Amino acid sequence: CGIVGYIGNRNVAEILIEGLEKLEYRGYDSAGIAVLGNDEVKVKKYKGRLSVLRENIQNEDINGTIGIGHTRWATHGEPSDVNSHPHTNSTGSIAVVHNGIIENYMKIKQQLQEKGYKFVSETDTEVISHLIDYHFEGDLVEAVKKAVADLEGAYALGVINKDNPDRLVAVRKDSPLIVGVGEGENFIASDIPAILKHTRKVYILEDGEMAILEKDKIELMKTDGTPIKKDVYVVNWDV
Ligand code: GLU
Repeated sequence: CGIVGYIGNRNVAEILIEGLEKLEYRGYDSAGIAVLGNDEVKVKKYKGRLSVLRENIQNEDINGTIGIGHTRWATHGEPSDVNSHPHTNSTGSIAVVHNGIIENYMKIKQQLQEKGYKFVSETDTEVISHLIDYHFEGDLVEAVKKAVADLEGAYALGVINKDNPDRLVAVRKDSPLIVGVGEGENFIASDIPAILKHTRKVYILEDGEMAILEKDKIELMKTDGTPIKKDVYVVNWDV
């Protein structure tokens, strides 16, 4: 139900959790983060409040400067650790957070299972991480473009990948998502309050648009690859 993502130079875990706390008003039943660091994507996710996640990562070394976080409002699959986001592909190299509902997930799940993909959760979201894996040939952006072309329904997505350690990919359709423009760091979030502590400059994504974030660069395009230009919206209110 809430998404936060970060790419920059700072250690990401606390930035993600603090951002998600600002979205608490949306309600949620589970929370999780995926952090890319030391050539590895580490996922921590738990049923319950953000405090449960925070306690569980207290003594863990989850260091990295790229990450995505999620608070879940379960629509497909009960609230549980395994159904919490982020969801990954089987090797754990791709991690996805998702707000919304994938309407054709059963069909995609069956097709992927026939190809040998193993699912561990009951969520609609898990098809996305495996579908990106299925389309992946080295370039995360291309794989995400192809994957979303197969999806029907509503989604705001944040995606990271071990083999593309300099970027974070975000896509939106029928579920809100914004990009926060920082200096030497950039953000995504499902709503502005999550990132207002760090920047007042945002891009509001529209349906069918995607953002490719690097720490010093943001590229905006339609999911068919057409580049787009957008004005930065400067937030002049406080939370
Ligand atoms: N449909 C997804 C799930 O049930 C995402 C729910 C959400 O937006 O939090 O896991």
